[in-house]
Amino acid sequence: MWIDTHCHLDAPEFDADRDAVAASARAAGVHMLVLPAVQVAGFAALQALAARHGLTYALGIHPLYVPQARDDDLDRLRDALSAARNDPRLVAVGEIGLDHFVPGLDRVRQASFFHAQLKIARDAGLPVLLHVRRSADALLAGLRRIEVPGGIAHAFNGSPEQAQAFAARGFRLGFGGAMTHERALRIRALAADLPPDIPVLETDAPDIPPQWLYRTAAERAAGATHRNAPAELPRIGAVLATLRGWTTAQTAAQTTHNACAALPRLRAWLQQPLYAPHASAPA
Ligand SMILES: [Zn+2]
Repeated sequence: MWIDTHCHLDAPEFDADRDAVAASARAAGVHMLVLPAVQVAGFAALQALAARHGLTYALGIHPLYVPQARDDDLDRLRDALSAARNDPRLVAVGEIGLDHFVPGLDRVRQASFFHAQLKIARDAGLPVLLHVRRSADALLAGLRRIEVPGGIAHAFNGSPEQAQAFAARGFRLGFGGAMTHERALRIRALAADLPPDIPVLETDAPDIPPQWLYRTAAERAAGATHRNAPAELPRIGAVLATLRGWTTAQTAAQTTHNACAALPRLRAWLQQPLYAPHASAPA
């Protein structure tokens, strides 16, 4: 079985065919998705979506949604986490982090939301799903100050030293569409060389299309789309297998093991008989 550890199935890009996208992921062998939230206003719909498909989710405020967030959204996050405390589908706090790539963002406010959410995760005893974009060192500084029980640094694109620093703090690193591009030499080298217990697989759908879905800006202007989907995960996993010299089965088993190690509540959820591999979807 494959696990997509980062899929925005609640994104508007899936409004027209969300349930079909989930069904085709399952048909492709992707038996579990982790759905990270991006804003408080989306929590209820995200939780309902996870419940409808037997999927897992995280609650948090994404750094690119901090500009429109209200200060009391942090209280609402705390409340939502405590209300969901007994929901076995809740596996982490996320997506949280820092984006130092997109221009014009208020870094002070981003950092204050990030640090507040680390404290919320620490107090809840939950791992975190991290958005890392040109911000690995700043994130690591926050993680040294506020210790959380690990998690996943998603769409990782840092240096080997930064990768090692995240691993030393109990984090796994997410690899997805970016790894499938032959020119992504640094990411491919990392995916190939990290210790076997570190990589996890993700699509970040609808974003970060793999090489075989990618369309240039000119093609998109002419009407082509390159929406990524969770059903692409096994093919992304096959790229990791090639890079590491693993068999496909070994890649699926190892990355599933790694995801469960990062997210203990995900492991518990998968151990429920209904969600054993090949079990059918809940009604
Ligand atoms: Zn994301």
